[in-house]
Amino acid sequence: METPKREELIRELKSYLIYLKDVGYTEIPCESELITSTSQEKAQPSLSKNEMPNNKSLAAVQKELGNCTRCKLSEGRKNIVFGSGNPNADLVFVGEGPGADEDEQGLPFVGRSGKKLTEIIEKGMGLNREKDTYICNIVKCRPPGNRDPEPDEVSACNPFLINQLGAIKPKVIVALGKPASSTLLGRTVPIVKERGTWHEYAGIKLMLTFHPSYLIRFYTLENRKAVHEDMKKVLKELGR
Ligand code: URA
Repeated sequence: METPKREELIRELKSYLIYLKDVGYTEIPCESELITSTSQEKAQPSLSKNEMPNNKSLAAVQKELGNCTRCKLSEGRKNIVFGSGNPNADLVFVGEGPGADEDEQGLPFVGRSGKKLTEIIEKGMGLNREKDTYICNIVKCRPPGNRDPEPDEVSACNPFLINQLGAIKPKVIVALGKPASSTLLGRTVPIVKERGTWHEYAGIKLMLTFHPSYLIRFYTLENRKAVHEDMKKVLKELGR
């Protein structure tokens, strides 16, 4: 059999992608080993147990962040989205970065994926979002057009994430989606493969799960069950 030419393959692939778009796909979930450079590859390595800072309050970390202009995301933002919730929470959720609603309000997870996250926390886990959790992101300013944060942006914000987690010292951190998981672990995480597994971040238990926006986009029973199972593990670890 004759091997198809490169141009032919590209043409076929293009028409398949157009077909997927026509039937409603807005993105294709794939493991980023297929992609050579991701925002996490150049990010700092994960922290070891004794590298977790513990000498700053959350308020001091926010003060130090100030009206940040350390990276280019500051140019397009309306508000810095530092984080919200209980500064003494046992459970911290870490997302990717603010979207339009979060940028508008200066608060994390207040848009569509925020509603889903609140539902997971309150209906699914039986916790109170404000009292029982703290929520923040790997970058504190909205990436334009909701693109993924770039390596220099993740790096510029990482010291503040580290200090935030060091101030709260939760019992469990939940990384929401691939960028948060990859940033906290300092390597590219294949989230479909690794969700539901325990890791460690500076001596703190770290659970990886799907981002709520992934759940909304790929709203299958399988995905919902997966997140439910992951959160059950978290509750067990918290003794609740
Ligand atoms: N998605 C995130 O990752 N973080 C937010 O704050 C909102 C949406």
